[in-house]
Amino acid sequence: MTFSKLGLSSPITRALEELGYQKPTTIQTKAIPVALEGRDLIAAAQTGTGKTASFVLPILEKLNQGETQRKKRIRALVVVPTRELAIQVESKVADYGKHLNLTSAAIFGGVDEKPQKQRLIEGVDVLVATPGRLIDLYGQRAVYFEEVEVLVLDEADRMLDMGFIEDINKIIARLPEDVQNLLFSATLSNKVRDLAKTAVHNAFEISIAANAASKSNIEQWLITVDKDKKSALLSHLIKENQWDQALIFIETKHGAAKLVSQLEKRDIKAEAFHSGRSQAIREQLLADFKSGKIQYLVATGVAARGIDIDELSRVVNYDLPFPADEYVHRIGRTGRADAKGEAISLVSKDNFKNLCMIESRLGHLIERREVEGFVPNKPVPISILNYVPKHKRQ
Ligand code: ADP
Ligand code: MG
Repeated sequence: MTFSKLGLSSPITRALEELGYQKPTTIQTKAIPVALEGRDLIAAAQTGTGKTASFVLPILEKLNQGETQRKKRIRALVVVPTRELAIQVESKVADYGKHLNLTSAAIFGGVDEKPQKQRLIEGVDVLVATPGRLIDLYGQRAVYFEEVEVLVLDEADRMLDMGFIEDINKIIARLPEDVQNLLFSATLSNKVRDLAKTAVHNAFEISIAANAASKSNIEQWLITVDKDKKSALLSHLIKENQWDQALIFIETKHGAAKLVSQLEKRDIKAEAFHSGRSQAIREQLLADFKSGKIQYLVATGVAARGIDIDELSRVVNYDLPFPADEYVHRIGRTGRADAKGEAISLVSKDNFKNLCMIESRLGHLIERREVEGFVPNKPVPISILNYVPKHKRQ
């Protein structure tokens, strides 16, 4: 499948090429043609599967064929739950539409509204907004809705969890009757379905099941952190969350020994498990880890291959594994027999390529969580999916 076969024209496909998007993701393949037909749509797919482009691309295609906006008018409205998302989605609109003559803007609360009002005066083709600020500015007549052609409710589940239902209903009630409604969500809960009933009529429904590589009873997340802060972060996580148990994967024997001593300095008792220790000791360590006598085992990937522990509650990738399949294998150790498990990765900037490969293998991004005091000085960029390494590492 290619983007042009989905019905997108060359200024858009060229922008995607320049961004390194080689082919559409599953949700994009299914949603874009439906949206291009002008139909209402309800689409659910996991976080990180490319939902943004699924609605932005058809919107750009549609608006590119119409007329430009008038003063204080907008032609497409994307409602999102948070300020961060508003900024992020608007920047995607700008990226995907960089060869088009369309305008976009983001409005959200928590900042001075004057520049946002100023921005709306000229009219905007694609407006990305959080509900509260949008209603505020609408009330002040800084923006009018009568020319809106498309409404997107992005991250609908999250907006409902955040209590935006009334605001959303107010917005919907003020839009023209014939707008095309697109609803995107990570999940299709009953709450989302109820909302869909009011907003979306005769909608085409697309629901994409989570990739088999990511079992649903395993919670996967990552924390971006500077390399030299990893051991402090791990100690913090262990103490703060009072982890009962963790199998911690690390790349080298030497690294394992060093980490154990770093943890020890912070009063955390861990054991190193690697090929440099005798078979008898390793067997004893495993037995003790299984019985709970040892809570934290720092293991090299190679040595840990044979470890078979049922219902391991947690694995930590202190170093990201290579190749990507190894990641899937590691997380598969947790959450066995339907028990809940979590897989946490500590990711520094130098792990970026590896992260891209893993997320491409999974077919979605891994949720990122921030830990106060450990926000990296060297941020880790957001991966693109379908990443193909230029030179495979050994
Ligand atoms: P979602 O909204 O489903 O959580 P996003 O739209 O934010 O996901 O996309 C996740 C990541 O995947 C972004 O970094 C985006 O640039 C990238 N991405 C989206 N579509 C493609 C594609 N077709 N090829 C490569 N990368 C893509
Ligand atoms: Mg999204």
